Amino acid sequence: MTDRDTRHQQSMQKLKAHVDDKVANATEERGLLMVFTGNGKGKTTAAWGTVTRALGYGYKVGVIQFIKGLWECGERERLNDDANLEVAIMATGFTWDTQNRESDTKACQEVWQEAKRMLEDPEIYLVVLDEITYMMKYGYLDVAEVIAALENRPAEQTVIITGRNANREVVAMADTVTEMQETRHAFNAGLKARRGIDF
Ligand code: ATP
Ligand code: MG
Repeated sequence: MTDRDTRHQQSMQKLKAHVDDKVANATEERGLLMVFTGNGKGKTTAAWGTVTRALGYGYKVGVIQFIKGLWECGERERLNDDANLEVAIMATGFTWDTQNRESDTKACQEVWQEAKRMLEDPEIYLVVLDEITYMMKYGYLDVAEVIAALENRPAEQTVIITGRNANREVVAMADTVTEMQETRHAFNAGLKARRGIDF
């Protein structure tokens, strides 16, 4: 073995000991609260990836699409014949052009009732609240009510929250928080969103 091989082997052994230690320490088992936020691309994609993962094991999953719900969505197309998946879509399909406070609030409250039901159902293993951060930011949803529903959910249920500018209290209570950081986005160079890639 060369010196370099020996050094590599030693550092891998150290890393393994460190990881083994961490694995031994991770003993608690319960559902998680996860937040995918930040300005970079990948929040909703990561949520649907986790949905696919859960469905792959036969778990029940609920997805609430708070905005862009009426838009095309390839993952939903692919997965919506799975009997274990329930998708609820905000009726107006809130977009940047509508922005009618009254009708958006009403539509948001309606779909929130579905979310609340899912957040009380111990049969549902994973609940995704896609783009819910905007609903809290604009005051369409009461933050305290959302937090209470998250806190009181079944112990085994995992919840994923997506959207930019995640609320500070929600971030504070989450088990896993990932901030997607934009290094570059094609859109800014004038490239159109692509079907099957961006939606
Ligand atoms: P995705 O749905 O691709 O995972 P996302 O959930 O992180 O993206 P959103 O803010 O919800 O991002 O925006 C959704 C749409 O906007 C997608 O078509 C996505 O490709 C596009 N998008 C995401 N990030 C950016 C960005 N930084 N600049 C421009 N467009 C973006
Ligand atoms: Mg998104």
